[in-house]
Amino acid sequence: MTRITGAAMVAGIVGHPVAQSLSPVLHSAWIAAAGLNAAYVPLAPALDGFAALIKGLRGGVIRGVNVTIPFKLEALVVADEIGERAGMAGASNLLLFSEDGSIFADNTDGLGMLAALRLQAPGFDPAAGPAVILGAGGAARGAAAALVLAGAPEVRIFNRTLDRAEALTRDVDGPLRVVDVADALRDANVVINATSQGMGGGGGPDIDLDAAPDTAVVMDMVYKPLRTAFLERAALRGLRTVDGLEMLIQQAVPSFEAFYGVAPPAEVDVRALALETVGETA
Ligand code: NAP
Repeated sequence: MTRITGAAMVAGIVGHPVAQSLSPVLHSAWIAAAGLNAAYVPLAPALDGFAALIKGLRGGVIRGVNVTIPFKLEALVVADEIGERAGMAGASNLLLFSEDGSIFADNTDGLGMLAALRLQAPGFDPAAGPAVILGAGGAARGAAAALVLAGAPEVRIFNRTLDRAEALTRDVDGPLRVVDVADALRDANVVINATSQGMGGGGGPDIDLDAAPDTAVVMDMVYKPLRTAFLERAALRGLRTVDGLEMLIQQAVPSFEAFYGVAPPAEVDVRALALETVGETA
Protein backbone atom coordinates (compact mmCIF):
# COMPACT_ATOMS: atom_id res chain seq x y z
CA MET A 1 0.00 0.00 0.00
CA THR A 2 1.23 3.49 -0.86
CA ARG A 3 2.26 5.53 2.17
CA ILE A 4 0.32 8.78 2.67
CA THR A 5 2.70 11.45 3.97
CA GLY A 6 2.22 15.06 4.98
CA ALA A 7 2.94 15.99 1.37
CA ALA A 8 -0.04 13.98 0.06
CA MET A 9 -2.32 15.43 -2.62
CA VAL A 10 -5.78 15.57 -1.04
CA ALA A 11 -9.18 15.79 -2.72
CA GLY A 12 -12.63 14.62 -1.72
CA ILE A 13 -16.37 14.59 -2.18
CA VAL A 14 -18.90 16.84 -0.44
CA GLY A 15 -22.49 15.69 -0.02
CA HIS A 16 -25.24 15.31 2.54
CA PRO A 17 -25.43 12.42 3.07
CA VAL A 18 -22.20 11.17 1.55
CA ALA A 19 -21.93 7.70 3.11
CA GLN A 20 -23.58 6.03 0.11
CA SER A 21 -21.19 7.59 -2.42
CA LEU A 22 -19.11 5.25 -4.57
CA SER A 23 -16.63 7.99 -5.50
CA PRO A 24 -14.21 7.26 -2.59
CA VAL A 25 -14.12 3.61 -3.69
CA LEU A 26 -13.25 4.54 -7.29
CA HIS A 27 -10.68 7.25 -6.53
CA SER A 28 -8.97 5.29 -3.73
CA ALA A 29 -8.55 2.24 -5.98
CA TRP A 30 -7.02 4.40 -8.73
CA ILE A 31 -4.74 6.18 -6.22
CA ALA A 32 -3.46 2.82 -4.92
CA ALA A 33 -2.92 1.39 -8.40
CA ALA A 34 -1.09 4.52 -9.56
CA GLY A 35 1.06 4.47 -6.40
CA LEU A 36 0.24 8.11 -5.67
CA ASN A 37 0.95 9.88 -2.42
CA ALA A 38 -2.67 11.01 -2.32
CA ALA A 39 -6.01 10.67 -0.55
CA TYR A 40 -9.69 11.12 -1.46
CA VAL A 41 -11.97 11.78 1.49
CA PRO A 42 -15.76 11.97 2.05
CA LEU A 43 -16.98 15.25 3.62
CA ALA A 44 -20.55 15.66 4.91
CA PRO A 45 -21.22 19.21 6.16
CA ALA A 46 -24.58 20.19 7.65
CA LEU A 47 -27.14 21.27 5.05
CA ASP A 48 -26.32 24.93 5.75
CA GLY A 49 -22.58 24.31 6.09
CA PHE A 50 -21.45 23.90 2.48
CA ALA A 51 -20.22 27.47 1.85
CA ALA A 52 -18.29 27.58 5.16
CA LEU A 53 -16.59 24.27 4.43
CA ILE A 54 -15.58 25.37 0.93
CA LYS A 55 -14.29 28.70 2.26
CA GLY A 56 -12.00 26.80 4.62
CA LEU A 57 -10.67 24.61 1.83
CA ARG A 58 -9.77 27.47 -0.51
CA GLY A 59 -6.23 28.43 -1.38
CA GLY A 60 -4.67 25.08 -2.06
CA VAL A 61 -5.51 23.47 1.31
CA ILE A 62 -6.76 20.61 -0.85
CA ARG A 63 -6.79 20.18 -4.64
CA GLY A 64 -10.53 20.18 -5.07
CA VAL A 65 -13.77 18.37 -4.39
CA ASN A 66 -16.49 16.54 -6.20
CA VAL A 67 -19.93 17.81 -5.21
CA THR A 68 -23.04 15.71 -4.92
CA ILE A 69 -26.65 16.04 -3.73
CA PRO A 70 -27.82 18.53 -2.49
CA PHE A 71 -24.96 20.99 -3.11
CA LYS A 72 -24.53 20.97 -6.92
CA LEU A 73 -26.31 24.31 -7.37
CA GLU A 74 -24.64 25.98 -4.38
CA ALA A 75 -21.31 24.89 -5.86
CA LEU A 76 -21.82 27.46 -8.62
CA VAL A 77 -22.48 30.22 -6.08
CA VAL A 78 -19.16 29.70 -4.25
CA ALA A 79 -17.12 29.58 -7.48
CA ASP A 80 -15.08 32.51 -8.82
CA GLU A 81 -15.02 31.13 -12.35
CA ILE A 82 -17.58 28.88 -13.98
CA GLY A 83 -16.64 26.61 -16.88
CA GLU A 84 -18.84 26.30 -19.97
CA ARG A 85 -20.23 22.86 -19.07
CA ALA A 86 -21.14 23.87 -15.53
CA GLY A 87 -22.56 27.19 -16.70
CA MET A 88 -24.81 25.56 -19.29
CA ALA A 89 -25.93 22.85 -16.89
CA GLY A 90 -26.54 25.34 -14.07
CA ALA A 91 -24.83 22.90 -11.69
CA SER A 92 -21.31 21.81 -10.75
CA ASN A 93 -20.03 18.42 -9.56
CA LEU A 94 -16.36 19.45 -9.52
CA LEU A 95 -14.71 22.40 -7.75
CA LEU A 96 -10.99 22.99 -8.25
CA PHE A 97 -9.06 25.16 -5.78
CA SER A 98 -6.11 27.29 -6.91
CA GLU A 99 -3.34 28.42 -4.60
CA ASP A 100 -4.35 32.06 -5.15
CA GLY A 101 -7.63 31.24 -3.40
CA SER A 102 -9.84 31.12 -6.48
CA ILE A 103 -12.32 28.34 -7.22
CA PHE A 104 -13.17 26.96 -10.66
CA ALA A 105 -16.48 25.12 -11.14
CA ASP A 106 -16.74 22.37 -13.74
CA ASN A 107 -19.30 19.71 -14.55
CA THR A 108 -18.16 16.23 -15.57
CA ASP A 109 -21.56 14.48 -15.27
CA GLY A 110 -22.35 15.15 -18.94
CA LEU A 111 -18.88 14.01 -20.02
CA GLY A 112 -19.42 10.80 -18.03
CA MET A 113 -22.78 10.23 -19.69
CA LEU A 114 -21.34 10.66 -23.20
CA ALA A 115 -18.33 8.44 -22.43
CA ALA A 116 -20.62 5.71 -21.06
CA LEU A 117 -22.77 5.89 -24.21
CA ARG A 118 -19.70 5.57 -26.44
CA LEU A 119 -18.29 2.67 -24.38
CA GLN A 120 -21.43 0.57 -23.99
CA ALA A 121 -23.04 1.45 -27.34
CA PRO A 122 -20.01 1.49 -29.68
CA GLY A 123 -20.48 3.79 -32.66
CA PHE A 124 -22.99 5.98 -30.80
CA ASP A 125 -22.96 9.49 -32.25
CA PRO A 126 -24.79 12.18 -30.24
CA ALA A 127 -25.10 14.29 -33.40
CA ALA A 128 -26.92 11.55 -35.34
CA GLY A 129 -30.45 12.41 -34.20
CA PRO A 130 -32.79 13.73 -31.51
CA ALA A 131 -32.05 12.95 -27.87
CA VAL A 132 -34.86 12.38 -25.39
CA ILE A 133 -34.32 13.16 -21.72
CA LEU A 134 -36.84 11.96 -19.17
CA GLY A 135 -36.62 14.30 -16.17
CA ALA A 136 -35.76 17.95 -15.60
CA GLY A 137 -33.69 17.92 -12.40
CA GLY A 138 -29.96 18.50 -11.99
CA ALA A 139 -28.94 15.34 -13.83
CA ALA A 140 -31.22 16.17 -16.78
CA ARG A 141 -29.71 19.67 -16.99
CA GLY A 142 -26.18 18.28 -17.14
CA ALA A 143 -27.25 15.77 -19.79
CA ALA A 144 -29.01 18.41 -21.90
CA ALA A 145 -25.97 20.73 -21.81
CA ALA A 146 -23.59 17.91 -22.74
CA LEU A 147 -25.78 16.73 -25.62
CA VAL A 148 -26.11 20.27 -27.02
CA LEU A 149 -22.32 20.77 -26.80
CA ALA A 150 -21.82 17.37 -28.51
CA GLY A 151 -23.96 18.46 -31.47
CA ALA A 152 -27.35 16.83 -30.83
CA PRO A 153 -29.71 18.39 -33.41
CA GLU A 154 -32.61 18.37 -30.93
CA VAL A 155 -32.94 17.63 -27.22
CA ARG A 156 -36.47 16.72 -26.12
CA ILE A 157 -37.42 17.09 -22.48
CA PHE A 158 -40.25 15.13 -20.92
CA ASN A 159 -40.95 15.65 -17.23
CA ARG A 160 -43.77 14.98 -14.74
CA THR A 161 -43.78 18.65 -13.71
CA LEU A 162 -44.18 20.74 -16.85
CA ASP A 163 -42.90 23.97 -15.25
CA ARG A 164 -39.55 22.37 -14.51
CA ALA A 165 -39.23 21.07 -18.08
CA GLU A 166 -39.97 24.56 -19.41
CA ALA A 167 -37.45 26.14 -17.03
CA LEU A 168 -34.80 23.72 -18.26
CA THR A 169 -35.40 24.58 -21.90
CA ARG A 170 -35.15 28.29 -21.03
CA ASP A 171 -31.96 27.93 -19.00
CA VAL A 172 -29.94 25.61 -21.24
CA ASP A 173 -29.05 27.34 -24.48
CA GLY A 174 -29.61 25.14 -27.55
CA PRO A 175 -32.19 23.26 -29.66
CA LEU A 176 -34.30 22.15 -26.69
CA ARG A 177 -38.01 21.38 -26.77
CA VAL A 178 -40.55 20.26 -24.17
CA VAL A 179 -42.42 17.23 -25.50
CA ASP A 180 -45.47 15.22 -24.69
CA VAL A 181 -44.97 11.56 -23.88
CA ALA A 182 -46.97 10.55 -26.97
CA ASP A 183 -44.49 11.91 -29.53
CA ALA A 184 -41.30 11.98 -27.48
CA LEU A 185 -39.63 8.90 -28.93
CA ARG A 186 -40.23 9.28 -32.67
CA ASP A 187 -36.86 9.22 -34.56
CA ALA A 188 -35.02 9.21 -31.22
CA ASN A 189 -31.28 8.57 -31.36
CA VAL A 190 -31.04 8.11 -27.60
CA VAL A 191 -33.49 7.94 -24.68
CA ILE A 192 -32.12 8.77 -21.23
CA ASN A 193 -33.81 8.25 -17.90
CA ALA A 194 -32.63 11.18 -15.78
CA THR A 195 -35.46 10.85 -13.25
CA SER A 196 -35.00 9.08 -9.94
CA GLN A 197 -37.69 6.56 -10.92
CA GLY A 198 -36.38 3.01 -10.63
CA MET A 199 -33.88 3.89 -7.88
CA GLY A 200 -33.78 1.01 -5.42
CA GLY A 201 -36.03 -1.10 -7.65
CA GLY A 202 -39.51 -0.40 -9.01
CA GLY A 203 -40.87 0.07 -12.46
CA GLY A 204 -38.95 3.06 -13.83
CA PRO A 205 -40.35 5.66 -16.22
CA ASP A 206 -43.74 4.85 -17.66
CA ILE A 207 -43.02 5.31 -21.35
CA ASP A 208 -43.74 2.92 -24.23
CA LEU A 209 -40.39 2.04 -25.81
CA ASP A 210 -42.15 0.47 -28.81
CA ALA A 211 -42.43 4.02 -30.16
CA ALA A 212 -38.62 4.31 -30.40
CA PRO A 213 -36.83 3.29 -33.61
CA ASP A 214 -34.85 0.01 -33.59
CA THR A 215 -31.60 1.98 -33.70
CA ALA A 216 -32.26 3.97 -30.50
CA VAL A 217 -29.90 3.59 -27.53
CA VAL A 218 -31.51 3.56 -24.07
CA MET A 219 -29.64 4.78 -21.03
CA ASP A 220 -30.61 4.79 -17.36
CA MET A 221 -28.75 7.11 -14.98
CA VAL A 222 -30.07 5.07 -12.06
CA TYR A 223 -27.39 2.53 -11.10
CA LYS A 224 -28.96 0.72 -8.17
CA PRO A 225 -30.10 -1.79 -9.29
CA LEU A 226 -27.60 -2.02 -12.13
CA ARG A 227 -30.12 -3.64 -14.50
CA THR A 228 -33.14 -1.42 -13.92
CA ALA A 229 -36.62 -2.40 -15.06
CA PHE A 230 -36.33 0.37 -17.69
CA LEU A 231 -33.14 -1.14 -19.16
CA GLU A 232 -34.69 -4.63 -19.04
CA ARG A 233 -37.69 -3.36 -21.02
CA ALA A 234 -35.36 -1.73 -23.56
CA ALA A 235 -33.32 -4.93 -23.96
CA LEU A 236 -36.52 -6.98 -24.43
CA ARG A 237 -37.51 -4.50 -27.14
CA GLY A 238 -34.12 -5.25 -28.79
CA LEU A 239 -32.57 -1.82 -28.08
CA ARG A 240 -28.97 -1.25 -27.01
CA THR A 241 -28.66 -0.29 -23.34
CA VAL A 242 -26.19 1.77 -21.27
CA ASP A 243 -26.15 1.72 -17.46
CA GLY A 244 -25.75 4.46 -14.85
CA LEU A 245 -22.76 2.84 -13.17
CA GLU A 246 -20.64 3.37 -16.28
CA MET A 247 -21.69 7.04 -16.26
CA LEU A 248 -20.67 7.32 -12.61
CA ILE A 249 -17.27 5.79 -13.35
CA GLN A 250 -16.71 7.92 -16.43
CA GLN A 251 -17.57 11.21 -14.66
CA ALA A 252 -14.92 10.31 -12.08
CA VAL A 253 -12.17 9.96 -14.73
CA PRO A 254 -11.79 13.70 -15.59
CA SER A 255 -12.15 14.56 -11.87
CA PHE A 256 -9.24 12.24 -11.00
CA GLU A 257 -7.11 13.78 -13.75
CA ALA A 258 -7.89 17.29 -12.50
CA PHE A 259 -7.08 16.43 -8.84
CA TYR A 260 -3.94 14.36 -9.25
CA GLY A 261 -2.56 15.29 -12.69
CA VAL A 262 -2.49 11.75 -14.09
CA ALA A 263 -5.02 9.49 -15.81
CA PRO A 264 -6.55 6.70 -13.72
CA PRO A 265 -4.68 3.42 -14.31
CA ALA A 266 -6.69 1.39 -16.84
CA GLU A 267 -5.85 -1.97 -15.27
CA VAL A 268 -8.03 -1.49 -12.17
CA ASP A 269 -11.51 -2.98 -12.53
CA VAL A 270 -13.33 -0.22 -10.65
CA ARG A 271 -16.63 -1.42 -12.06
CA ALA A 272 -16.25 -4.75 -10.26
CA LEU A 273 -15.22 -2.93 -7.08
CA ALA A 274 -18.24 -0.63 -7.27
CA LEU A 275 -20.60 -3.56 -7.83
CA GLU A 276 -19.07 -5.41 -4.90
CA THR A 277 -19.59 -2.31 -2.73
CA VAL A 278 -23.28 -2.01 -3.60
CA GLY A 279 -23.75 -5.78 -3.27
CA GLU A 280 -24.40 -6.62 -6.90
CA THR A 281 -22.86 -8.77 -9.58
CA ALA A 282 -22.42 -7.67 -13.19
P1 NAP B 1 -33.47 15.70 -8.95
O1 NAP B 1 -32.86 17.00 -9.28
O2 NAP B 1 -34.12 15.49 -7.62
O3 NAP B 1 -34.57 15.39 -10.10
C1 NAP B 1 -35.41 14.27 -10.02
C2 NAP B 1 -36.19 14.09 -11.31
O4 NAP B 1 -36.93 12.86 -11.22
C3 NAP B 1 -37.20 15.19 -11.61
O5 NAP B 1 -37.29 15.38 -13.01
C4 NAP B 1 -38.50 14.59 -11.05
O6 NAP B 1 -39.65 15.08 -11.66
C5 NAP B 1 -38.33 13.15 -11.45
N1 NAP B 1 -39.13 12.23 -10.63
C6 NAP B 1 -38.90 11.86 -9.35
N2 NAP B 1 -39.86 11.01 -8.95
C7 NAP B 1 -40.71 10.84 -9.99
C8 NAP B 1 -41.90 10.09 -10.19
N3 NAP B 1 -42.41 9.32 -9.22
N4 NAP B 1 -42.51 10.14 -11.39
C9 NAP B 1 -41.99 10.91 -12.39
N5 NAP B 1 -40.88 11.66 -12.27
C10 NAP B 1 -40.25 11.63 -11.08
O7 NAP B 1 -32.41 14.51 -9.08
P2 NAP B 1 -31.13 14.45 -10.04
O8 NAP B 1 -29.93 14.93 -9.33
O9 NAP B 1 -31.49 15.07 -11.34
O10 NAP B 1 -30.94 12.86 -10.20
C11 NAP B 1 -31.86 12.10 -10.98
C12 NAP B 1 -31.38 10.64 -11.00
O11 NAP B 1 -30.15 10.54 -11.71
C13 NAP B 1 -31.11 10.06 -9.61
O12 NAP B 1 -31.58 8.73 -9.58
C14 NAP B 1 -29.60 10.11 -9.49
O13 NAP B 1 -29.08 9.10 -8.63
C15 NAP B 1 -29.21 9.84 -10.93
N6 NAP B 1 -27.85 10.33 -11.26
C16 NAP B 1 -26.93 9.43 -11.67
C17 NAP B 1 -25.68 9.85 -12.03
C18 NAP B 1 -24.68 8.84 -12.51
O14 NAP B 1 -23.48 9.18 -12.58
N7 NAP B 1 -25.09 7.65 -12.86
C19 NAP B 1 -25.31 11.22 -11.93
C20 NAP B 1 -26.29 12.12 -11.51
C21 NAP B 1 -27.55 11.66 -11.16
P3 NAP B 1 -40.41 16.39 -11.09
O15 NAP B 1 -39.68 17.57 -11.63
O16 NAP B 1 -41.78 16.23 -11.61
O17 NAP B 1 -40.33 16.29 -9.58
